[in-house]
Amino acid sequence: MNAKRPLPLHPLLYGLFAVLSLYSFNVAQAQAADLPLPLAMVLGGAVVLWLALWLALRDAAKSALILTLGLVVFFSYGHVYDALKYLKLGGFRIGRHRFLLLVSVGLFAMLAWAALKARAVSPSLTKLLNTTTAVLIGLTLLNAASYKLSHRQIQPVEVNAGTAFFDSSSIGLRRDVYFIILDGYGSRTTLRDVYDFDNSAFLDRLREFGFMVADNAFSNYNQTNISLPSIMRMDYMNFLEVKPGENSTDPSIPWSYLRRGAVWQRLREYGFRLILIRSGWGPTDRNDFVDEAVKCGRYNEFVKMLTHTTMLSVIERKLLVADWHRDNVRLMVQALEGMGTRPGPKFVFMHFPLPHAPFVFGAKGEPVEPPDISFGQNIWLPRERYVQQLQYVNALMLEAVEKILKESEETPVIVMLGDHGPASFDQWHAPSDDFLRERHGVLWAALLPDAETKAAPDKLTLVNTFRIVFNEEFHAGLSLLPNRLYHSTFEQPYRFLEVTDRLIGAEADGEKPDS
Ligand SMILES: [Zn+2]
Repeated sequence: MNAKRPLPLHPLLYGLFAVLSLYSFNVAQAQAADLPLPLAMVLGGAVVLWLALWLALRDAAKSALILTLGLVVFFSYGHVYDALKYLKLGGFRIGRHRFLLLVSVGLFAMLAWAALKARAVSPSLTKLLNTTTAVLIGLTLLNAASYKLSHRQIQPVEVNAGTAFFDSSSIGLRRDVYFIILDGYGSRTTLRDVYDFDNSAFLDRLREFGFMVADNAFSNYNQTNISLPSIMRMDYMNFLEVKPGENSTDPSIPWSYLRRGAVWQRLREYGFRLILIRSGWGPTDRNDFVDEAVKCGRYNEFVKMLTHTTMLSVIERKLLVADWHRDNVRLMVQALEGMGTRPGPKFVFMHFPLPHAPFVFGAKGEPVEPPDISFGQNIWLPRERYVQQLQYVNALMLEAVEKILKESEETPVIVMLGDHGPASFDQWHAPSDDFLRERHGVLWAALLPDAETKAAPDKLTLVNTFRIVFNEEFHAGLSLLPNRLYHSTFEQPYRFLEVTDRLIGAEADGEKPDS
């Protein structure tokens, strides 16, 4: 390579940029640990393609140019698809894969043809492309680094609910504690009234195992990102209105509670081994506070997002949403079922991605095509698909519970709940009572072997879940917080609209949570 002919590195640099920019754009949610695999795949693929083209054309600069053009088309395809998918021209839907694919491949073919026909790629063009892609990478890294630096302090410092809320001498038997979150699992009432499905068989079976099942359980918040942290903190999250503020969507602060809130900290202090069955989703997939994280499949949100933004989005419904998702789910159940024989005392945390959409299982666990939701439809429809997936979840959970009970030396504590309900009414911006009831009504069941009463409180909200567990099992003497329910949208998750009165009447007489 002489000085006049720079080595055309731009295809590799562009490939790096494509992955890193997605990471940087989603830096609040994405984790650096998710990067190596996609980076290696993109770089490896680019190198192989480049060498192949180079061999065929016997021209390094030209083959690199064609490859970069191809990569640009490949990596921008999903963004273009997303931007156009609702667009119609004279009744013709432009944003369809068959149409967009044709246009993209045609465009690439024309550009590649022009590059092929050109006598040679000038060294200055190669230099320009090298420099541009390198600068883009630099800006991307700068953005991600500045975010990480400004957020590295965020840690939940408080251990709320009183520092001495129970002393270890009062703990008799340290039973294993299982916490199973069934994402989007609605209440018996919702299933009956909205989904025309009688869930009694499942709930009765849980009662036979000794679970207390709440008839009127509600989530305090309507989205995973706030509901789960609030459970793990055993307290409300309304301070988020102030910091990071009503207009923020940054989940760093709630996630810090989800990963190391009071429940985690207490159980660690009392000698529990913390085990995470990895979910494939952000803070319930990776948590450096736990002693052990059990990996369950190839599926993670970053790979899914990357696929969604590239030309692979054409097959993502089949490949990712369906096959990888099913794979992930099955491995998680396997991991859960294997926990009974592990030495204790241990706290097993599993955030199960079902019965939440996408609907990829039939009632007996048979794989089914997810419904086509690409045209802006509500992901929670059709309702019968939700019910079918939920029936499969029921079967999986009963099997797992039975196995755990059989294999555990001492009967464990098992808490199973929905972090919020489904949302088939889809009225986020003008929530009707029906929508609120559907979204906040949840499953809540707990096996508490040492509890004096076997009945769950008449009205129960998730914030009190571990107050009840710790009181019953460890004589913690924690007071239960007043029940308060808050609606918010995904666009403004921390702008809370109190809806307590609309759902559980005016019984909330306690103090308002700090705000
Ligand atoms: Zn959820």
